[in-house]
Amino acid sequence: MILPVYLYGHPILRKESKDIPLDYPQLDKLLENMYETMKNADGVGLAAPQIGLEDRILVIDLDACKDKDSSCAGFKKAFINAHIMEQSEEEQVMEEGCLSIPNIHEKVPRSNRIRIQYLDEKLQPHDEIYEGYKARVLQHEYDHLDGILFVDRINNMRKQLIRSKLNKIMNGNVSCSYRVKAASKK
Ligand SMILES: [Zn+2]
Repeated sequence: MILPVYLYGHPILRKESKDIPLDYPQLDKLLENMYETMKNADGVGLAAPQIGLEDRILVIDLDACKDKDSSCAGFKKAFINAHIMEQSEEEQVMEEGCLSIPNIHEKVPRSNRIRIQYLDEKLQPHDEIYEGYKARVLQHEYDHLDGILFVDRINNMRKQLIRSKLNKIMNGNVSCSYRVKAASKK
């Protein structure tokens, strides 16, 4: 089922998500809905707060990025109860967008390399290192779990320049090809 994506300004996007219990009801169904919602919106990642849940779950599908990074081919995964344990000091700056902040793209610095602990879809634990594009997308989605958005990580001057666009999104005044839920609409 395709779910509406919560837009910038909605308070749920500013909450810190919590680890889910291992007997979480209908987890498979939730993950399926998250994948479907992400795909429908042409996204490469989606975090649970973006569909209105305070759960520490994110999904990514990087197959569309295989031209930039061949190791992304077929890379589709859920990260449950995700916790970043280490981040490299070396950073790289790249342009990012976000399904919750439509039509805005800004350059964001991110660590080149991260170490992340998480449970997979079968609730098996993993402790892995990711680099490059995978590390970037994971950090973006992971930020959502901590109530942080990519526009928080851009410089003040750029933020001033996009302020009016952000206000429009907050008011639900935005055109989007996918279902959304604006902060102003209950
Ligand atoms: Zn995002």
